[in-house]
Amino acid sequence: MAITAEREAQLLATVPTGLLINGEWREAAGGKTFDVEDPATGKVLLSIADASTEDGAAAMDAAAAAQDAWARTAPRERGEILRRAFELVTERAEDFALLMTLEMGKPLAEARGEVAYGAEFLRWFSEEAVRISGRYATAPDGKSRLMVTKKPVGPCLLITPWNFPLAMATRKIAPAVAAGCTMVLKPAKLTPLTSQLFAAVMVEAGLPAGVLNVVSTTKAGEVTGPIMKDDRLRKVSFTGSTPVGQGLIRDAADKVLRTSMELGGNAPFVVFEDADLDKAVTGAMAAKLRNMGEACTAANRFIVHESVAAEFSAKFAEKVAAMTPARGTEDESKVGPLIDAKSRDKVHSLVTDAVERGAKAVVGGAPVEGPGYFYQPTVLADVPADAQILKEEIFGPVAPVVTFSTEDEAVALANNTEYGLVAYVFTEDLNRGLRIGEKLETGMLGLNAGVVSNAAAPFGGVKQSGLGREGGNEGIEEYLYTQYIGIADPYAS
Ligand code: NAP
Repeated sequence: MAITAEREAQLLATVPTGLLINGEWREAAGGKTFDVEDPATGKVLLSIADASTEDGAAAMDAAAAAQDAWARTAPRERGEILRRAFELVTERAEDFALLMTLEMGKPLAEARGEVAYGAEFLRWFSEEAVRISGRYATAPDGKSRLMVTKKPVGPCLLITPWNFPLAMATRKIAPAVAAGCTMVLKPAKLTPLTSQLFAAVMVEAGLPAGVLNVVSTTKAGEVTGPIMKDDRLRKVSFTGSTPVGQGLIRDAADKVLRTSMELGGNAPFVVFEDADLDKAVTGAMAAKLRNMGEACTAANRFIVHESVAAEFSAKFAEKVAAMTPARGTEDESKVGPLIDAKSRDKVHSLVTDAVERGAKAVVGGAPVEGPGYFYQPTVLADVPADAQILKEEIFGPVAPVVTFSTEDEAVALANNTEYGLVAYVFTEDLNRGLRIGEKLETGMLGLNAGVVSNAAAPFGGVKQSGLGREGGNEGIEEYLYTQYIGIADPYAS
């Protein structure tokens, strides 16, 4: 059943509109606010406080003041707060899903999937909080003793993108809470409402004042710049574009901050001649059209063996053609709008460039008339090697197909990018799959799978796709540092 305007208004009325600083929701210093829009209609959903540099400083003060006491809380207590947050998000799954659909545009079915995925980080790290351990050892000479412990790194700055408003926040907040770190969160200005509502859930779950501070703002650099220079900050964790990440790494050098960087991607989707093509098409639909293609893990280049390229493209195009663009709240919605006009125009310019260079639009290839920023789901065949679309993150529902003839050529094409976040490989030959996995320069590989994200797995990239891992056993390590205590020989008199 389609969502009514009344239901939307009721939900929006529950979203806190202030900044969360030291456990209190407050107006921005100077009282400024900004509008958050629905990308499917262009209409304003809600106005919220627009943090200033002064608010950023207050948030940093609160995080620094809360750090010592928070680091000393019992791991079980931190785990139980996360567990309660998991239960609250799960109870309110429909609210979180609708809120994400409203501010980001993804179809409700996908938003529900993100709620389950995002909540899983809370449950996973509630369990990890009590598994932080160290070791005690005798030194090789038999005399001194070595004690190794793990400690929270300290106050963290967390910066998240607009495309997965809940999961990108929980993937950072949950391990930071589990490790005993305090935080300043700066959500994306295009989709801050989910973080606002999630922060209220963390407070309800019992998170003490000052542990999580949220400064939504339209002035990202102005607010985060001074925080990055603050001597009390110990870490920055960023998910977003590679250029912004590179700037943050440069800034982090001044204070030698710990950094976690989840940056852009240009994922190859390789289909071998021995692949099950129906499985490959199902994988391709998930890897390309999930989140309208606005995912760092979105398949960006379809690299298909020349003997099956025509059949794969035809089957894929048939499925893509059935994807109806519609507002995410509508029952039939399978593909929502892109986030804004700028993104839609960029997608179209990449398609136009490819077509001008000789590519053929098997299906789609044009923007959809407004309101909203919709783009037709598109498959492009015969894309020439010099097309810009093969070099850049598309961030839209467009699938360019190129062909190869040998395994070595497929590997060379797949690795021909400065990115290395994820790759997808479809083959029925397990040895070939494993061999290709060893040759691909990528942090993650989907083997006959179009989706790899899992809270229990280490998510992250190599090359210019980033540093560090989120999720899995590795995720909490990003928020811990190792301390070694050298102990004199206990038998020495
Ligand atoms: P973005 O433009 O880099 O923005 C990401 C975040 O950084 C936003 O909160 C943004 O604030 C903030 N920001 C922008 N300039 C800043 C500055 N100078 N200093 C501090 N913060 C700054 O990226 P996006 O367009 O939101 O997200 C899409 C990108 O994220 C894509 O490249 C995608 O691949 C990547 N991504 C990567 C992963 C991963 O795990 N590897 C996951 C999801 C997305 P404003 O909102 O105010 O601009």
